[in-house]
Amino acid sequence: MALLELKNVSHIYHSPEGETWALKDVNFTVEEREFVSIVGPSGCGKSTILAILAGLLTPSEGDVTIGGKPLTEAKGTTALMPQRDQLFEWRSIMRNVLLGPEIQKNKSPEIVTYAKTLLEKYGLSEFTSKRPSELSGGMRQRAALIRTLVTSPKLLLLDEPFSALDFQTRLQVCDDVSDILRQENKTAILVTHDINEAISMSDKVIVLTERPASVKKLYSIDLDKNLPPLKRREQKSFAVYFRRIWKDLEVHNE
Ligand code: ADP
Ligand code: MG
Repeated sequence: MALLELKNVSHIYHSPEGETWALKDVNFTVEEREFVSIVGPSGCGKSTILAILAGLLTPSEGDVTIGGKPLTEAKGTTALMPQRDQLFEWRSIMRNVLLGPEIQKNKSPEIVTYAKTLLEKYGLSEFTSKRPSELSGGMRQRAALIRTLVTSPKLLLLDEPFSALDFQTRLQVCDDVSDILRQENKTAILVTHDINEAISMSDKVIVLTERPASVKKLYSIDLDKNLPPLKRREQKSFAVYFRRIWKDLEVHNE
């Protein structure tokens, strides 16, 4: 059984200005430990999908199940890493990482130990008492990812998490994130507008249509899973996937 399943998920936003039909019959599954990327035209409904999976929005129609159970009965199984790292400058890295449990009032000794273990394992042990501004862009992203991991979610939701980074840092962070998620045995969905990033990081790439979004294409990425994303970009079939997805996303101006 797939870890996550979306069945005919549709969503309409209602606001005083009118209705916006964001999603129309979105169907896909995500297997345990799979890394799935979602690409699509800007404004098509990508963040709406993640908001639904994070439990922040209830879809107008359709079913979302995690491990066969409705998402609403599986609280805490998903965690969203937002577009900017959103680390608070007035908190140390350790206290940023423990922010979630602190708010939810479940900062157990186990969670604190797990946070320390993760910070140490991923090269941030010297920075636990530092402020976010004292860290490089790459380290900040790692800290933000660790914050998302401390509550042990089953499914991580990454909404264009690298878009604020410069190109070089971005490449490094992709390798870091990929390595951390693999080592921690996590399942993840990444929303990105960068086709290279999507292909190099993923087992599967979902291409969405224009709004209202539905699944236009689904690619199983048959690149070497043991290579880091940067190395996967050098593999022969990489360019083939790139051309296909680029064509899927091409804007047809009439
Ligand atoms: P993407 O992440 O693919 O850029 P979004 O999921 O953020 O797209 O948005 C899809 C569409 O829904 C857009 O047209 C957007 O303007 C609209 N939308 C998003 N959030 C709201 C909201 N809270 N109320 C009304 N419309 C919204
Ligand atoms: Mg978005």
